[in-house]
Amino acid sequence: MAGECYEEDRFVNWKRMIWELAGAAVLWMTTSLPGAAQVAPPGAPGIPMNPSPIGDTSAIAKEAQGWLADLVRINTSNPPGNELAAAKYVAGILEKEGITPEILEVTPGRSAVVARLRSSAMADPSKALLLVAHMDVVPVDKSKWSVDPFAGVVKDGYLYGRGAIDDKGMLAANLAVFIALKRSTMHLNRDVIFLATDDEETSGDASIKILIGKYWDKFAAGYALNEGGNVFVKNGKVQYIGVQASEKVAVNVAVIAHGTSGHASQPTKDNPVVHLAAAVAKIGNYSAPVHFTTIVRRYFDGLAPLQDDEIGKWMRSMDTPDRGEHAQRVISEASPLWNAMMRDTIAPTVLAAGVANNVIPGEARANLNIRLLPGDTVNVLLGDLNKLVNDSQVRLEVQPNAGLAAPPSSLESDLYAIISRVVTEEFSGAPALPFQSTWLTDSAQLRLHNVQSYGLVPFPLADEDLKRMHGDDERIPLASFAKGVDVLARIVAEFAVAR
Ligand SMILES: [Zn+2]
Repeated sequence: MAGECYEEDRFVNWKRMIWELAGAAVLWMTTSLPGAAQVAPPGAPGIPMNPSPIGDTSAIAKEAQGWLADLVRINTSNPPGNELAAAKYVAGILEKEGITPEILEVTPGRSAVVARLRSSAMADPSKALLLVAHMDVVPVDKSKWSVDPFAGVVKDGYLYGRGAIDDKGMLAANLAVFIALKRSTMHLNRDVIFLATDDEETSGDASIKILIGKYWDKFAAGYALNEGGNVFVKNGKVQYIGVQASEKVAVNVAVIAHGTSGHASQPTKDNPVVHLAAAVAKIGNYSAPVHFTTIVRRYFDGLAPLQDDEIGKWMRSMDTPDRGEHAQRVISEASPLWNAMMRDTIAPTVLAAGVANNVIPGEARANLNIRLLPGDTVNVLLGDLNKLVNDSQVRLEVQPNAGLAAPPSSLESDLYAIISRVVTEEFSGAPALPFQSTWLTDSAQLRLHNVQSYGLVPFPLADEDLKRMHGDDERIPLASFAKGVDVLARIVAEFAVAR
């Protein structure tokens, strides 16, 4: 309860600040415009309760909803991506506002877009704030959708389409906030940079890693807001806000079994299909040891009070010497997300063997998609897996393009403090918890370049909608979209508008 009073105090302070800003405006209007109508103080009837310094964002959110529908209609399924078409669309919107965007070609047909609002003639990249979103989307299985995934259909208060959340929703919200700042002509205390990236979903040859290599000077920044965390809704209420400050590292490992090829009518003991199957079964049942990073420990500390008594009790016991192991098992089994947040995970994803029904092949392969905790190394894990498999016919081989672990973003920065305070105020006191995503985002590459990057898709979303990302019938509730634009506007304004 004490915590709530504390937040209430901060809330009142924020309101007072707005009041003072509005008061100054009233003073200016009444002195410089004789006879001008008195401006009612914020919070008065008819005035939005919780305006950001940008002001009421409902009109720009409505505009941005149109941009989002248009962006969904530009098919950027990756592969092949074809983000140049989306880049041109975004650049066109920025140009209409008198902003000069730059299209940055990464590979032919695949481009990013960058634009900047300056705080002063001399840029200070270490202070700059980057608003990042990616333009590519994952492919669809059209036959499983109830609507055309690339039509931008609005139905029952939702906008449907591939990318509606991931990540064109964020892209449209970033665009809205960036343009609202430009229209407001408010003085900035740091540069705000808009960046739309390409090839995020496959982290391939046109991804942010390559973009940074070619064009870092165009968007170098000390801070970034990106996707990666979420506003989690449970039973119609925001339960907590996960602010992504770290992410796991993806590595693919091939399991390769060798044997003697031959006639299927005379089976042999060294059939590689049999050896591969046995190895994959052992690996699939393996649980790597639990390691708590600082972020995950703080996440569970904050989450425990929100759980029912039983889960809350075990969540609090995970670090205890006597009950820890049992508690970790209970929590791992309660949620695949929680399980994956506290250990390296291994998912066998692809099997390949055989050339004909009546031929024993000489080789059989599987792919393991491994997600390492930041700080863990794949060789240590492979040592454990080799011991487990214990088969001289089977070897494990790390595949190219393994991810790199990035340092976590600071939980002590001004930006993290602002995000935490704003979301708690905006979502009725729900706590902000630091979040280590099990999935990848562009933030890892930014963190490797000393950017304090935080992941927050600002739209309140229920599990039912979150699950549709990368799935069928992806959709965003329009009310959540508008709320997200407002929340993002307030975070950006509090961090980047000079007072
Ligand atoms: Zn995404």
